[in-house]
Amino acid sequence: CGIIGYTGDDRATLDVLLTGLEGLEYRGYDSAGVALANGSLAVYKREGEVQALKNALPDASVEGTAGIGHTRWSTHGPPSDANAHPHTDEDGRVAVVHNGIIENYQALRDELAARGHVFASDTDTEVIPHLIEERLEVGVDHETAFREAINRLEGSYAIAAVFRGSETVYAARHESPLVLGVGDDGHYLASDVPAFIEYTDQVIYLEDGEFATITPATVTVTDETGSVVETVVETIAWDP
Ligand code: GLU
Repeated sequence: CGIIGYTGDDRATLDVLLTGLEGLEYRGYDSAGVALANGSLAVYKREGEVQALKNALPDASVEGTAGIGHTRWSTHGPPSDANAHPHTDEDGRVAVVHNGIIENYQALRDELAARGHVFASDTDTEVIPHLIEERLEVGVDHETAFREAINRLEGSYAIAAVFRGSETVYAARHESPLVLGVGDDGHYLASDVPAFIEYTDQVIYLEDGEFATITPATVTVTDETGSVVETVVETIAWDP
C-alpha cells in the first residue's frame, strides 16, 4: 500500500527506507519489507508492523546504495512473511515492490510455471520478478528487462525494482501514485511525499504510463515508448 525507494549514500539507505515506511504508515498495511542492493541483494520482510521488520534485521549494519521498501495491504494472498514484499526471482537477481493489482497475473503465473518457475508466494506481484529474470536470461540489460516485464502487465500498479550489483532503482506507474524526490545526497521515489519529506521537498510527479530510472547522480523519466520526458521539479510546501 506504500512504496519507498532510495539511491545515494550507502550508509543512509536502510535508515531512509525505514523512515519512509513509517511516513507511509497512515495509509494502512499488514506487512512491511525492504531490499538493499550493492554487491549482493539482501531482502528482509515480515508480516505485521514496521517494528516487526526492524526486529528481523541483523545486528550488523546493512549497507546498500540502492534500496526499496514496501508496506502491503494484501489483495492476493493473506498477510504472511512469504507474501510480504519485496518479491524476488529464484536466483535473487532482482527484487520488486508493487502497489495495486495485476489483473492478468493468473495467466502470467501459469505461463511462467509451465516454463519451470517456482513461486514462493500467493501474490499477484511475484510474476514480475520472474518475468524480469526471463528477460535477463536472454541477455538484455536491466532497464530493458524491467520495461519488457512491465509491458506484459494489465491492471493498476506502482512498481519499483533493484538489481543485485546495481545502484539504480527502476520504477513504473499506471493508475497508482508515484512521486520522485530530488535530494542533495541522492534520489528518492515514493507513493506519497511524507515518505521522504524530511530529506527533500524537491519533487517530480510521474504520470500514468511513465518509467523512472534513478541513480545517486541522475533522474531520468521516459514514456511508454522509451522517449525521455522533460520533467518539472516542483518545490512543495509541506506542513508536517
Ligand atoms: N496486490 C499486491 C499484493 O497483494 C499489492 C497490494 C498492495 O498494494 O499493497 O501483495
